Amino acid sequence: MKITFLGVWMVPVDGDTVSFVLELDSGEKILVDSGVNTVRNLVNANIDPCSITHLVITHSHGDHIAGLPVYLFYRYKYAPLVNKKAPSLLKVISTQDTWEAVKAYINIPYPNLTNNPNIIIEEYVREGGCLKISEHYMMNCFITNHNPITFGFKIINTFSKKSIVYSADTAICKYVFDMAEDTDCLIHDVVADSKFPMLGKAGHSLCNDVGELSNNSRVKMLVPVHRLPIYKGENDKYKEELSNAFHGKLFIPMDGDVIEI
Ligand SMILES: [Zn+2]
Repeated sequence: MKITFLGVWMVPVDGDTVSFVLELDSGEKILVDSGVNTVRNLVNANIDPCSITHLVITHSHGDHIAGLPVYLFYRYKYAPLVNKKAPSLLKVISTQDTWEAVKAYINIPYPNLTNNPNIIIEEYVREGGCLKISEHYMMNCFITNHNPITFGFKIINTFSKKSIVYSADTAICKYVFDMAEDTDCLIHDVVADSKFPMLGKAGHSLCNDVGELSNNSRVKMLVPVHRLPIYKGENDKYKEELSNAFHGKLFIPMDGDVIEI
């Protein structure tokens, strides 16, 4: 599995908000949430925006859906006309509440855009639900500690047993702990270090807690996202707090970084 980070931040001061593409060995390309400049970020990463096969929408906060109207406009109005690309199927993975809210948001600037027959949702995400992505890939979903309703997931190659867990936005959550046991890669909301204790009580997670959770779950690689832009420069305290309890591999991504699991 290949992960391309399109954005890693809480707000798009310089880079973009949290979004990434998961490319599976079976060919599927899963766009997880949508930062402000999704089209440009995909093009910069050499990923054709029309080649995305699945769209995960974890929840309806602005930093996770801001780019969707323009992304879908590009894909279903601009590219067919200008780039002469036949519209292709996009499978949406989300909860019913989130998809209803996000459809309304997309259809304000572009009325009826989500009525395109190529945009489909096969099955809504439910707590504990398990979706089959392809022959060898399953996605297990869980509801996180965040408001409005938010889900995270574990994607597993049932053949090689390799897995990636994404916490989505969440305060420390027992479902993440359970799902992350022995995972190859945990991408977790780590909004700040202990300088900002209030953010740890507002539906997000802090370095010390995520380090401890990751170590207790025997996570092989921890990838902190949803960081405050003040951590864009070198921030030793942030790394130090994560490493206090976590002794596995730590990878702190920047926009555009790619890793293979
Ligand atoms: Zn959120």
